[in-house]
Amino acid sequence: MAFGKDDKNLQAVGGFRQQARQYQAARPRFGTGGGKPYFIDRFQPSLEDTDKIRILKGLYEVEIGQQDGSIVKQTLYYFPYIEHFHGTLKKGAICSAGPLGMFKGKGQPCLGHEIYWADKNAGRKNGPMSMTEKNAFTIIHYAPYAKVEQVDDQGQVKKNDKGEPYWNWVRVMPHQRHDPRFQGKEMRDFHILHWSLGFGHFKTLMEYDKEISRSCKSCGGRDTIVCEAWTCRYCGEALIEPATTTLTPKEIDEFTSKNVRCASCGNEGMLQEIISCTQCANPVRAEIFDVDINVKRVKSSEGGNMTNLIIPSWSNPCPIDQRYAEFAKPLPLDKIFQPTPYEKQQEMWGGGGSRMPVTNSQLSRPYGGGAPTLGPGGKPQY
Ligand SMILES: [Zn+2]
Ligand SMILES: [Zn+2]
Ligand SMILES: [Zn+2]
Repeated sequence: MAFGKDDKNLQAVGGFRQQARQYQAARPRFGTGGGKPYFIDRFQPSLEDTDKIRILKGLYEVEIGQQDGSIVKQTLYYFPYIEHFHGTLKKGAICSAGPLGMFKGKGQPCLGHEIYWADKNAGRKNGPMSMTEKNAFTIIHYAPYAKVEQVDDQGQVKKNDKGEPYWNWVRVMPHQRHDPRFQGKEMRDFHILHWSLGFGHFKTLMEYDKEISRSCKSCGGRDTIVCEAWTCRYCGEALIEPATTTLTPKEIDEFTSKNVRCASCGNEGMLQEIISCTQCANPVRAEIFDVDINVKRVKSSEGGNMTNLIIPSWSNPCPIDQRYAEFAKPLPLDKIFQPTPYEKQQEMWGGGGSRMPVTNSQLSRPYGGGAPTLGPGGKPQY
């Protein structure tokens, strides 16, 4: 059956997970590496306790380099970047190689890249330089913070040219409430921070987004959303109907997160989901941005510094509390994580100038090939 074009029941094309999967598929992979936080206002979920946060939806236009040297643009709710961290010097920077940085001879100059690949090409597997993909979000952290003067390594207050101190909002843990450092200081019960997730944690966040999407943003209902069908966005033909399909959930996930060709009209594109809500007439799937979440990390059983991200609970979908609404603006993550200039990288890591060619042809990702065709009833046609 065809569901037609009743906008009311159409989900916007490209929710968070669809968007993230498209982005991940469109860009080549890097190896993993360590990475230490070095920015202020950088959130990292606690290992001891849960942190209550709300992730804010941003809009960032990013460029994705393609194998043929072309660049495609995509708008994302989060900001992806690459971090280099020198494990011996304990200094990190943002990659300056640009969208074509992973293709031989096509990237912009980046000392992090040069050191990383010089080691790899020389057969040194565990060189000091890491290259890590990160995805940054803005969050509200619901916790007590105090506004204190920044101090340097000697404990002296840092001041600008006019002799005014630099201020930082610092987390006040419950046991620190009477700490002299915070007495008489301006306090508040939240702070806006940025949160960078490596690939593993980001994937976990997408899994939670899927769970959260069972709830309705429109009425706040918990787990009230039902998928009726996935339709062609051009002709409205229902290509997957969960009630009758023979596709496995995994296959449905796969076909609904990339372009498919409609056997009915021949057009190619993302499918559109028709949903209903058991509680209201205007169903909208909630996203990770629509709920307050309690988040923590636990040490991975694999040992080392590896951790797993856990979201033990989340609220029903609801707008951000009025008290925080005026502060709940996404940070300029594209500015915060803008590339560290080559000269600055030289200052931090020394050397350089050898301009080793960036070679990583061994990492080029086999991607491409046409979109699969999906026939009526969800039968893949290869
Ligand atoms: Zn780089
Ligand atoms: Zn069609
Ligand atoms: Zn609803």
